[in-house]
Amino acid sequence: MTKRLNDPELIEIFGRQTVLEVMVDKIGEEQERLSKLKNELSSKMAYIATRNFPEKWHKTHWEGHLDRHLGQTIRQSEKQLERYAKLYLLCKDKLPKNGLDDCKIEDARNRPIVEFLEGRVRHVGNRSSAPCPFHEDKNPSFVVYDDNSWHCFGCSKHGNNAIDFVMQKDGLSFREAVRAL
Ligand SMILES: [Zn+2]
Repeated sequence: MTKRLNDPELIEIFGRQTVLEVMVDKIGEEQERLSKLKNELSSKMAYIATRNFPEKWHKTHWEGHLDRHLGQTIRQSEKQLERYAKLYLLCKDKLPKNGLDDCKIEDARNRPIVEFLEGRVRHVGNRSSAPCPFHEDKNPSFVVYDDNSWHCFGCSKHGNNAIDFVMQKDGLSFREAVRAL
């Protein structure tokens, strides 16, 4: 029987730098996957919300169905991300600060998304809105909130920071996005 390696064993065998680099890529891939799944869930939920069902329970039934299947996959993906993040932090512990360090990732995350928006940007309260960069948009459907999370009310794309914005907009990996920012 083969035994699954635990985290310290992985680091011992492959070395911190290698595991760290792999984790950065894995985290990026998983974040991309998670963000697609969440987009899919929100657009399906939005679709259900606009439909008329002959019976009220039909709607509840389909919402429950989505939550069981897509929701389940989303929760698994979040768990997976947590595991990668844990291993990433474990490697970080004794690594010299080079390459993609936490500060760079944090700075990239917080780079104001409004800097990348074209067309007129309006600021109202804790949000800024502009024409969406992801779809042909005549209205300012794209909203960026104070915490740099963003959402398009036209095409339902959304994300939590500048990294996933650039990843989706320019088709970059996590690592490439951090470098680009
Ligand atoms: Zn859009």
